[in-house]
Amino acid sequence: TTENSMLSIKNIEVIYDHVILVLKGISLEVPNGGVVALLGANGAGKTTTIKSISNILKTERGEVTKGSIEFEGERVENLSPNDLVKRGVVQVMEGRHCFGHLTVEENLLTGAYTRTDGRKAVADDLEMVYSYFPRLKVRRKSQAGYTSGGEQQMVAVGRAMMAKPKLILLDEPSMGLAPQLVEEIFEIVQTLNQKEGVTFLLAEQNAAIALRYATYGYILENGRVVMDGAASHLASNEDVKEFYLGLS
Ligand code: ATP
Repeated sequence: TTENSMLSIKNIEVIYDHVILVLKGISLEVPNGGVVALLGANGAGKTTTIKSISNILKTERGEVTKGSIEFEGERVENLSPNDLVKRGVVQVMEGRHCFGHLTVEENLLTGAYTRTDGRKAVADDLEMVYSYFPRLKVRRKSQAGYTSGGEQQMVAVGRAMMAKPKLILLDEPSMGLAPQLVEEIFEIVQTLNQKEGVTFLLAEQNAAIALRYATYGYILENGRVVMDGAASHLASNEDVKEFYLGLS
């Protein structure tokens, strides 16, 4: 583990339903302050990797059967999802997952459920979130279920910010969004990284955009890391261009 490492995963294996081997020894490092992208085709194992970290595999009959996951130098495989949130590891699920019947603001406040630092601190952070997402402030009284896909993704990221995260695990932020909105979401990720010091690990099928915003990338194929490197390095690699960026 390097000194600067926030999250360090070594050789993890994940099995679903006791027999389906899905991750076949994944290792990766997320440096403090980085934006790291997990890339790869549908089914490569990106979501499973993210869920291993947030420890929500059990609900899907999945299990980490080998390897280790360290956050800030401590083993965390046995922590509950809630304890991970308290430590600052917060997942934003694929498909956004807002509470559709709650308002935008109520959704954001649910993100603060593990906090014990008082109403004032939470209220300040709500204003912080609105400063990055002015559209959510305008829509704060609207039922989240009636906001647009882009707004719901913003609610999901804003909700994660309400937990005072150190590391946000962001699963497929571009899913189902028009290119303009995808760009907007990645711009916000970059801003939160730079201004609030939040580290990101994001799973993304759209390698072209992820590599423009990430600092480092890992390419997964069939449950293994097949290539990794600085984002700029990956973006100019001929194989990456051909297979993941649709250029050749
Ligand atoms: P996606 O873009 O669809 O999220 P991914 O790269 O994130 O793809 P995973 O969702 O991690 O990939 O899936 C990796 C493999 O694990 C796939 O072959 C998938 O069918 C399998 N898998 C995922 N969830 C389960 C489950 N609950 N039970 C059994 N197999 C699963």
